[in-house]
Amino acid sequence: MSLIDYFAVHIVPRMYRGKGALHPSETGHLTDRISCVREYDVNIFFYEKNGTVIAIDAGYKNHGGFFEGVKQLGIDADKIEAVFMTHVDPDHGGGLDVNSTCKMQNAQIYLGEIEENYLTNIYTRKKIGPFKVKNSVVFKSGYRLLKDRETVYINEIKIQAILVSGHTLGHMAYLIDDKYLFTGDSLAINSVGGYCFFDIFNYSSKMNIESLNTLQSFCEDKDIEYLFTSHNGYTSDIKQAFSHINEIPQWKKKGFVFDDSAPYDCFCEK
Ligand SMILES: [Zn+2]
Repeated sequence: MSLIDYFAVHIVPRMYRGKGALHPSETGHLTDRISCVREYDVNIFFYEKNGTVIAIDAGYKNHGGFFEGVKQLGIDADKIEAVFMTHVDPDHGGGLDVNSTCKMQNAQIYLGEIEENYLTNIYTRKKIGPFKVKNSVVFKSGYRLLKDRETVYINEIKIQAILVSGHTLGHMAYLIDDKYLFTGDSLAINSVGGYCFFDIFNYSSKMNIESLNTLQSFCEDKDIEYLFTSHNGYTSDIKQAFSHINEIPQWKKKGFVFDDSAPYDCFCEK
């Protein structure tokens, strides 16, 4: 197991248990068009319109929850036409790794053009002391790269990519059909509002905060109905979702609990 995979599945759970930092939605239908699968602490989202299904992110490597989940949702994984990656960390991109069970084998993969540098290991994901932690995910060739604010259509579904650098340098948010905003790991929300994502995972929290302010301005003249995060569920209160974006949750403080309704440990699955 690579260092980053070990970190994601063994270190993160120990650091975060009891802090209420991770509260993904349970597998199920969230709106008339949007559903999700939960794998440990992360959500994979699906958007369905007129018979076309696309996904946002792909979850962990070899997590069996995906196939059980899509069955429960009535989605044929082989018919997912495209998957839009917010970023390629192992909890989001692992499900498309060429050395693991591919979850959406016929889907066209899209990711941000800057984010590709983690796939090719031109960028180091994180430095921890003397260790340079590299990404462990490899995608098959043929993926397509998106620029900031680029719009693509998958049949009748409109997808706009918005660069939200900070968690990773090429992290993208996606606005779908002008109504549904997927923010990946840029934002952490609880009952009070949305905050800068937890700092230990970020390349630069300062950069993430700047990007969240840009994203908030981008949203101002739009009529967004729902905003989704990858690790903290979703909300229809868009104003509140940006209410604390200049603050970083102080998760290292003794007694800190970000969301008191979150499970004690998302990685403990029965
Ligand atoms: Zn994540």
